[in-house]
Amino acid sequence: MNTAIAVSNLEYRYHDGTAALRGVSFSVAEGECVALLGPNGSGKSTVLLHLNGILPESPAANGSVKILGQPLRTENLDRVRRQVGLLFQEPDDQLFCPTVEEDVAFGPEQLGIKGEALKALVAQSLSRVRMAGHERRATHHLSHGEKRRICLAGVLACEPAVLVLDEPTSDLDPRGRREFKALLREIPATKLIATHDLEMVVELCSRVIVLDQGQVVAEGPTLKVLGDEALMLKHGLEKPHSLQHPHPHRLLP
Ligand code: ADP
Ligand code: MG
Repeated sequence: MNTAIAVSNLEYRYHDGTAALRGVSFSVAEGECVALLGPNGSGKSTVLLHLNGILPESPAANGSVKILGQPLRTENLDRVRRQVGLLFQEPDDQLFCPTVEEDVAFGPEQLGIKGEALKALVAQSLSRVRMAGHERRATHHLSHGEKRRICLAGVLACEPAVLVLDEPTSDLDPRGRREFKALLREIPATKLIATHDLEMVVELCSRVIVLDQGQVVAEGPTLKVLGDEALMLKHGLEKPHSLQHPHPHRLLP
């Protein structure tokens, strides 16, 4: 199995001196769906922003992030960015065109797709997120859940091999969560999901990585790590409800 994301000894300090990442290492294999857990401020978003070169401001030459075997460096930043689709924690940080159609088209247009091919791609991406027919709507009139789905459509329209999602189900109501999980399940890309939604993790992710204070403090199969109540509590998390009562069939490998 090839490695889709390889992070080795990643360090990052914000301008004000906050040491956000203190030697983070992990990898994600192609086709895997992995959760990135940890309390608020543990460094999840900072890690994700490094995976398509938004951070650091000038890409380091030390090769601490590799995507599909290629180190993220200034020379190949554009190429690597095309392979990694990042869904921001806050949809309003991602949406910036007046209409849904323009927003979803923006990424593929940058990749040189135009005309009928672009139109078809936008329509296809909208239908993948169950928003077909909403092309003409104003992005600022969408509900929170719809905004998330339009952001996802924009990311999918660039056909990334690796999908990186920052708390994709936070602020969604139960139906919104259910629908979003169903969409994610249908996407074959390699996925790394930063989240507090442990029910989603149990349903979608085979493996989890736990961060605390900018370091990886645990890693392993989902049910093993999430079922370890002492570990979860120690790092500001909790054992998910679905694992509170033993379901023998769920604990089989
Ligand atoms: P998480 O996503 O796990 O909540 P973050 O990656 O956002 O954590 O934050 C990691 C640490 O970096 C925290 O201490 C946070 O306060 C700090 N931090 C995040 N963004 C900034 C920023 N723009 N400037 C300074 N510090 C920041
Ligand atoms: Mg965050």
